[in-house]
Amino acid sequence: MKSFLIYPLLLLFGSLCSSSMKENNSGMKQEEDKFKYQTEQFADLAILRYKVPGFDELTLKQKELVYFLYEAALSGRDIFYDQNFKFNLEIRKTLEAVASSYGGNRKSEDFKKFMIYAKRVWFSNGIHHHYSNKKFQPDFSEEYFAELVKGSDQKMMPLEQGESTDSFLKRISSIIFDPDIAPMKVNLNPKEDLVKSSAVNFYEGVSQKEVEDYYNKMQDKNDPRPVWYGLNSKVVKENGNVKEKVWKLGGMYSPAIEKIVGWLEKAVTVAENHPQKKILQKLIEYYRTGSLKAWDDYNTMWIQDTSSRVDVVNGFIEVYNDPLGYKGSFESIVSIKDLEATKTIDAISRQAQWFEDNSPIDDKFRKKNVVGISAKVITVVVESGNASPSTPVGINLPNSTWIRKEYGSKSVSLGNINESYNKAASEELLQEFSYSDEEFRLSKEYGTITDNLHTDLHEVIGHASGQINPGVGTPKQTLKNYASAIEEARADLVALYYLPDKKLIDIGVMPNDEAFKAEYYKYISNGMLQQLARLKEGENIEEAHMRNRQMIAEWCYEKGNSGDGAAVIELKKKDMKTYVIINDYQKLRSLFGQLLKEIQRITSEGDYESAKAIIEKYGVIVDKDLQKEVIERYKKLNIAPYKGFINPVLKPVYDGDKIIDIKIEYPEDFTEQMLYYAKNYSFLPNRN
Ligand SMILES: [Zn+2]
Repeated sequence: MKSFLIYPLLLLFGSLCSSSMKENNSGMKQEEDKFKYQTEQFADLAILRYKVPGFDELTLKQKELVYFLYEAALSGRDIFYDQNFKFNLEIRKTLEAVASSYGGNRKSEDFKKFMIYAKRVWFSNGIHHHYSNKKFQPDFSEEYFAELVKGSDQKMMPLEQGESTDSFLKRISSIIFDPDIAPMKVNLNPKEDLVKSSAVNFYEGVSQKEVEDYYNKMQDKNDPRPVWYGLNSKVVKENGNVKEKVWKLGGMYSPAIEKIVGWLEKAVTVAENHPQKKILQKLIEYYRTGSLKAWDDYNTMWIQDTSSRVDVVNGFIEVYNDPLGYKGSFESIVSIKDLEATKTIDAISRQAQWFEDNSPIDDKFRKKNVVGISAKVITVVVESGNASPSTPVGINLPNSTWIRKEYGSKSVSLGNINESYNKAASEELLQEFSYSDEEFRLSKEYGTITDNLHTDLHEVIGHASGQINPGVGTPKQTLKNYASAIEEARADLVALYYLPDKKLIDIGVMPNDEAFKAEYYKYISNGMLQQLARLKEGENIEEAHMRNRQMIAEWCYEKGNSGDGAAVIELKKKDMKTYVIINDYQKLRSLFGQLLKEIQRITSEGDYESAKAIIEKYGVIVDKDLQKEVIERYKKLNIAPYKGFINPVLKPVYDGDKIIDIKIEYPEDFTEQMLYYAKNYSFLPNRN
């Protein structure tokens, strides 16, 4: 199983906070909110902020814990840049030198274009688009870039020893400007060598086959509790031998890891309880030794800690950025539990066995005993690495298949991030893609609550359900480059299938029997139309979540149109604009059920050919005319398809050496935050 992130559909289809249920759950009235949620917009990106309600209610000891974990999170930030591409840190440092010291005209159009490029690099943690994985091009010339570099503080430029500015420029410019150098961060085209054609810094001097052979030899297929081989290392060839450079204290990335460990050690001293102390100590052991067994032990302990108020994800976690799915990208999320909002997700997770028993999948793929799905809503305090500035709205960890089977998993919904998306969402967009007043009304009334429920069901029930046939191997091994899209489809389909179920009304999490329509409409509209706005004209879909959404929508569209009777889903034109219409919501539900059954079979049997066939047929190819239309409609609305966040800043207040309080501030300027991080958290050399 590759990974368990949910990315917000909300990016594209904002829903509004007007549901009474949400008020009941949070116990809060919708007051007028003066907080500035969106601060700026450039390229295809918007920058948002989020609040941290509840921080001030923490005890001093809890605040200290949060603060130490916050520092540990930011200390690893450089690692993710380097993992994404081996020249990212050098380029970033060059851009930062210009942004903070260029002495020429800073008001010109060209300089504005330069700043947009710099902001895009910060947003994507490198020179490849965070979502499409393609290298993006600056809007200014190479000559202008040379002028900027020469007109800035030379001491800040990351020159190699003895290198002249001219030869530095020649080297770095070709990496930035030449479209043929490192065009894709992650290439998933099965016709090519995925390792050699991907720019990520996980492999060097080796072919896909060499990497696969290397790990196949290491893996024992009969081991019921295998570690995640390759998770924390780079694979290189030295003197003809393939070997790993491990990311640990004293290994690769050591300068940043030393800082992380230093802050984690402080965190241990203020842990909330004994188990949490042990967990943090295990994480330190893992960073010290690089032992993947220690990592598994850490995760099994971490899952079982459900009582601590403060929690952290810190490590090499998500494997999306490795075309082969071995290597974890650094990420950290520090959070406090939202006690009120956790009640809904709790109600769902308590019914996990019921959902499993009633799922429309084949009996032989059903889990007889669903174990330990713990779910909570968290309030994020800081994010770093792969989770920042662009962030998931839900996470379900750990990724290890055997740990999930034996110990379950922890499912987390990022409450205040979701809230911020909702607040910043545009009513105009909702209107633009609603066929009639009825769809608009449903979305407005129920969009937020059903969207949250979709996330909860996807994470808590979806990823945790079903089982793989004995001896088949993990989806990563069997479904390869289609594993992520299939896994996300499976979790989405479980959520979609259950949204109209009376069970949700019975357990008090769904207000009535029409609310689910808001999510159905949004899902199909997004899968067939709206998400096309994320692509450049003429591009097909590469990203796993997008492939999964289009696959589900297009499959249901096709299957619902065959045979007699009215089509389940229609595409209709009105005033030259295309809209989705859902004619029969109950039939759509049964289509979701049929597809879920097939996707579960593919997963359980490890049926690569079927996975490939269904994703390639429905999930990849884009209708170019429709795409053009959607891109134009978005352009008119001037809404950025991707959003990312400025983090709050934590500041300790001292009395002598003693911390007496931690203050939280909410900065408003993205560039300032990026330069502040550069100044305070640049721990790695230019190349690693
Ligand atoms: Zn997921």
